[in-house]
Amino acid sequence: MTSEIDFANATHPFLDGAPKRMLIGGQWVAAASGKTFETRNPATGELLAVVPEGDREDIDRAVAAARAAFEGPWRRMKPDERAALMHALADVLDAHYDELAWLDTLDMGSPIRHTRGSRRHLVGLMRYFAGQATAIHGLTAETSLNGDMFAATLKEPVGVVGAIIPWNASPGMMGLKLAPSLAAGCAVILKPAELAPLCASYYAELWQEAGGPPGSLNVLHGYGADVGAAMAAHDGIDKITFTGSTAVGKSIVQAAAGNLKKVTLELGGKSPFIVFPDADQDLVARTAAAWCFVASGQACVAASRVFVRADIYDSFIEKVRDAALQMRLGDPMDPHTDLGPLVSAQQKARVSDHIRSGMEEGARMLCGDEPVPDIGHYVRPTVFADVDPDMRIAREEIFGPVLSLFKFDDEEGLLRVVNDTPFGLSGSVWTHNLERALRVARAIDAGQIGVNVHAPMSPQTPFGGNKQSGWGREFARNGLEEFLKIKAITIKIGDKPSM
Ligand code: NAP
Ligand code: MG
Repeated sequence: MTSEIDFANATHPFLDGAPKRMLIGGQWVAAASGKTFETRNPATGELLAVVPEGDREDIDRAVAAARAAFEGPWRRMKPDERAALMHALADVLDAHYDELAWLDTLDMGSPIRHTRGSRRHLVGLMRYFAGQATAIHGLTAETSLNGDMFAATLKEPVGVVGAIIPWNASPGMMGLKLAPSLAAGCAVILKPAELAPLCASYYAELWQEAGGPPGSLNVLHGYGADVGAAMAAHDGIDKITFTGSTAVGKSIVQAAAGNLKKVTLELGGKSPFIVFPDADQDLVARTAAAWCFVASGQACVAASRVFVRADIYDSFIEKVRDAALQMRLGDPMDPHTDLGPLVSAQQKARVSDHIRSGMEEGARMLCGDEPVPDIGHYVRPTVFADVDPDMRIAREEIFGPVLSLFKFDDEEGLLRVVNDTPFGLSGSVWTHNLERALRVARAIDAGQIGVNVHAPMSPQTPFGGNKQSGWGREFARNGLEEFLKIKAITIKIGDKPSM
């Protein structure tokens, strides 16, 4: 669908000046305490909306509403009825996708070209899981028990799900949390990041418009340390699905210990991008820059570590620098913009600190020190060459537009450095030598590896992290299973004793 919207000059229909609400049990409500916070456009500083600041009382209400849905009409819906609702949501999402992308760009600053580009992917994700809703099944088994037995396994929804998401890609995160939960028949309480709360409320309106029943999706706003932490600890929540930083992921695991709720975690990354000489160097250099600087580097799969074989290193790093210099930084509403601002002043300060550390520790800055606009939290695409594996920029997730270039001589030395990280989310290998591609792809400890493609995400292939990049998987059948629990039922046939 092409849009007639003049994004740079129009006013978003959702931003009507009225305070935003939280969705609890099908009702749009203020926080019980009456408290609110503001969300602002990171490109201009302009106030976008006032949002309720939820606390423990709101969580209790949301848990009660989700539980009532889970034990009531939502749970009694047949798989094909859930699937039909999800397809209806996919239709509504498709029809309103530009508004969703527009809101995301306003709230967190990612360029409109980027946010609008995910329509097919996100609509398709909802349809994929709508199909999965009608294909939930266990198995029958022949047992070793004495006597005549019939044994079967049932797959049941895990219950009330708490979903906690970051600010960097709200529409995608909404889909990734909701689609498999709804397909499984769970009821969801979702908390977006306070830096980008608006898409979650808008998305919930779309679910209502599609006919989503009360309590099946509830949206709470508020601060992570309050609402997020209280959700992780709440005894009425059966599972937390979390996307965010590794540090917060660890605190969620601890908080979840109270009722041993199930936990899925999608955490940080430091993904390698490995270039061999037989790759198309011009194309691959541009691709490396595009994948490191996507959303100004605020992407968990960002190609933040680029490894180049020594014999092409000098020419390749020039190409990466040229690609970075060609990227357009500016108004995220301009359809030609490649890099918008970072999400907040705090995020800019964190990223600037990493850049300073790179210079102080002796990495060679190829570009990044050109001036930035006075207003908005902008950081130029920054490329460092000759990065040493011990430097902070090599080890820590920066979550900003900083690309580190490493030189390698042989595969053994390469893999030692590639795998010497607490992260294991994603990565890519660029070569047309099939054996080498497979050898390297197999040797990298990460949840997904692309060969001649970086971070391919499709509903059909599982996505998630090894090591401290996460627990569990999203997308694909694996993503659905995270929201199902398994029960074995064994029936003895006849009166003959089994013992
Ligand atoms: P974050 O600080 O970990 O926050 C993520 C979410 O958790 C937010 O909603 C946050 O709320 C909430 N939160 C904060 N403290 C909490 C606590 N103690 N208990 C429960 N919830 C809490 O991460 P972020 O800065 O928003 O996002 C960037 C991080 O997300 C990066 O590390 C990135 O790699 C990761 N990420 C991973 C993936 C993936 O798929 N693996 C995808 C995207 C992003 P508030 O914002 O309101 O504080
Ligand atoms: Mg904002």
